[in-house]
Amino acid sequence: MQKQIKIINSSTTIPIGKIVCVGRNYVEHIHELGNEVPEKPVVFLKPNSSIIYSGDEIIYPNYSNDMHHEIELLLLIGKTVKDASLEDSENAIIGYGVGLDMTLRDVQDVLKKKGHPWTIAKCFDTSAVLSDFILKENYKITFEEELILKVNDEVRQREKLNKMIFKPAELVQYLSSIMTLDYGDIIFTGTPKGVSKVNKGDSLLGSLDNLVNIKCSVK
Ligand code: MG
Repeated sequence: MQKQIKIINSSTTIPIGKIVCVGRNYVEHIHELGNEVPEKPVVFLKPNSSIIYSGDEIIYPNYSNDMHHEIELLLLIGKTVKDASLEDSENAIIGYGVGLDMTLRDVQDVLKKKGHPWTIAKCFDTSAVLSDFILKENYKITFEEELILKVNDEVRQREKLNKMIFKPAELVQYLSSIMTLDYGDIIFTGTPKGVSKVNKGDSLLGSLDNLVNIKCSVK
């Protein structure tokens, strides 16, 4: 079934296109996982079937014992861009949200050692949790905003957006040099430090300041 994005304070919904994710975009997170700072963004995709929304349950796959939360700024693409300039890339971003890139760290570690794609660690059902989105025309981003992720009311991740290595327009420009980005596509922009394991029964609360938020539990 075609999934939709909800826009805050609006009855508008937007059909979701593809989900493009960026990894390794905050230096301290790169170091906590023992990775190297990349010269270009690390890119992977999530399927439409992985999407859930605030209020839904994250289902723990039975082939992992180490599912991690990754709180991330989301970008909503509003126009078709290919090989875009930096200015066109900025203009292609029409909204912001917050999301969880749920990741099976034990599975991913094995895949990384083998040089295999991360698909089964990143693309399972319920691995992409989306907030509602705020439109850029209604909010000017300053990058002083903070991403916060709490597990059972304890803060696990807390970081300002100005710690991103590649900024939103730079990400869109790079991604558009590889694939056409279209209206309704969503970009996960990478997670800051503090990723950690979740357990069944945990309650997760993610936010970008008080602009957008998600709340869900792990089953
Ligand atoms: Mg991530």
